[in-house]
Amino acid sequence: MKLLEEIILRESTVLENDVLKVDSFLNHRIDTLLMNEIGKEFAQRFQGLNITKILTVETSGIAPAVFTGFALSVPVLFAKKAKSITLDSGLYEANIYSYTKMQYYTISVSKKYLTKRDNVLIIDDFMANGQAVRGLLEIIKQSGAHIVGAGIVIEKGFQGGGKSIREEGIRVESLAIVDKMSEKNILFKKEEDKK
Ligand code: 5GP
Repeated sequence: MKLLEEIILRESTVLENDVLKVDSFLNHRIDTLLMNEIGKEFAQRFQGLNITKILTVETSGIAPAVFTGFALSVPVLFAKKAKSITLDSGLYEANIYSYTKMQYYTISVSKKYLTKRDNVLIIDDFMANGQAVRGLLEIIKQSGAHIVGAGIVIEKGFQGGGKSIREEGIRVESLAIVDKMSEKNILFKKEEDKK
């Protein structure tokens, strides 16, 4: 997605440990006009698939997920990272390792809001090693729902999560795929190479 790539080049910084900092438009301040375009782009890529629910994980997945849910006119469910006493009707749970926080945590979703009748699209802000998406896939599996695919705003193609999840037959659509990055330069995978 050209607009997204331009904003990444203009506004992001590359930190140590292969982390791309995108606080000005995605992870702290949210660029709502960009999010709107992102939502419409995912809706177009996954149109006609009878999606009934978007699933993401708090916190940074929520913005792109909500705009996508709005564009597809479906509700958005986000997995919680902290146990809450308001989640009282039984939970699906999965353990995931956080790439940026370097720690394990449990994500949970109420059984009330995800059932075997759902057709689910996963949306997340980043894909690195694929742990977050794998955790969400585990929750979908527990619920018996059908997985339609995963929409990722920024995939770091050099970290392999997207490759291994695609190899399992799951459709992954990433709006920008970073091929290489350094403090001086960010290179994206070209459109024709994505096919
Ligand atoms: P994964 O589970 O695929 O290894 O990592 C995905 C999660 O880690 C995303 O939900 C995102 O929150 C975070 N993440 C991974 N890599 C980056 C990065 O380079 N920059 C930022 N801002 N977040 C990242």
